[in-house]
Amino acid sequence: MSTLLNATFSEPAPSPALLLLGQGKDLASERGVECAGALPAASDPDLVERARAARAALGDRAFILGHHYQRDEVIDFADVTGDSFKLAREAAARPDAEFIIFCGVHFMAESADILTSDDQQVILPDLAAGCSMADMAAIDQVEECWEVLQDAGVADQTLPVTYMNSTAAIKAFTGRHAGTVCTSSNAEVALRWAFDQVGGVDGTGKVLFMPDQHLGRNTALLKLGMSPEDCVVYDPRKPGGGLTTQQLSDARMILWRGHCSVHGRFSEKNVTDIRAAVPGVNVLVHPECKNEVVVAADLVGSTEFIIKTLDAAEPGSSWAIGTELNLVRRVAAAHPDKNVHYLDSTVCFCSTMNRIDLPHLVWTMESLVAGRVVNPIVVDADDAHWARVALDQMLALPGL
Ligand code: SF4
Repeated sequence: MSTLLNATFSEPAPSPALLLLGQGKDLASERGVECAGALPAASDPDLVERARAARAALGDRAFILGHHYQRDEVIDFADVTGDSFKLAREAAARPDAEFIIFCGVHFMAESADILTSDDQQVILPDLAAGCSMADMAAIDQVEECWEVLQDAGVADQTLPVTYMNSTAAIKAFTGRHAGTVCTSSNAEVALRWAFDQVGGVDGTGKVLFMPDQHLGRNTALLKLGMSPEDCVVYDPRKPGGGLTTQQLSDARMILWRGHCSVHGRFSEKNVTDIRAAVPGVNVLVHPECKNEVVVAADLVGSTEFIIKTLDAAEPGSSWAIGTELNLVRRVAAAHPDKNVHYLDSTVCFCSTMNRIDLPHLVWTMESLVAGRVVNPIVVDADDAHWARVALDQMLALPGL
């Protein structure tokens, strides 16, 4: 029987940082994000029926994407589920859908807008559904970083590689500088390609990896055979990134100081504790976790890898999974014949992902039925062009 170790399911307290994602300052409101018309109450007993009716009325005009980390009440209405990259491709594969309703976070909806045609509209049901990791790399900070690299004389031997979990502006920067986007599934392939452009993995060229330092470090150390000394962390809040010219010159991986506020919470102690509590447990974590967690785990991989691994696991086997709690709960429910534990002893929902709820989905769909397009996500045309260049480079990499 599946269990979730010591998990409690209360929502995390709202963070003041969420205010940055909206435009207003009223904590009692939708944090500045307007919902024109009536946002249904979460307690509305007809909510599911309203959702069904609106979904049926929209028919093939709408296609609903649901990220793995979304709530069950939202996933129930998704036409397809997946990670950010899979969903962007699914959106691009639906040219006949007038509306792409993206139940995920802002950068994902941006990628879908970039990959879909101009006459399709991508909609994010709640504009406050951002990503704290993506927000850790602002375009002006990245431009400033590049100037630091130029001043240090290393920019011409450096290629930017940005994780999918970044804003369209950062992807566009990467495209303008001949780099590539990567996912948690293909980070090794993307980094090998990037190093090939600047002299090879064993050469002296560098990669500027944004915005997740952990995915970059884990891939460099565990897949490319680099040492911790090959990696430096660029801190955008410090002059010169907090690095000397010598450090930049010696480095192979210049890691942006960013992380996922969900996966960054798992600790090596979580792994030690679960091994003591559950003999024979297999520890499976996402590569956005810290290096010491990944090293202590048995397996590391993307959300799609985690799902496939559990699908293929032996009945009766024990698993501790270190990724977002909504996904772990669903995996546990799908495998009652396996013992599925949650790696952390405290709640680890992605609070911004959880901004999308059934009331916002109903509001979005009923607005569309009424002829009102709410929360469209539109990427600036120039950024969209260059971000597409970086995304196309990724699509040209082997294995995708
Ligand atoms: S789980 Fe982490 S990377 Fe994913 S949307 Fe939430 S904060 Fe961003």
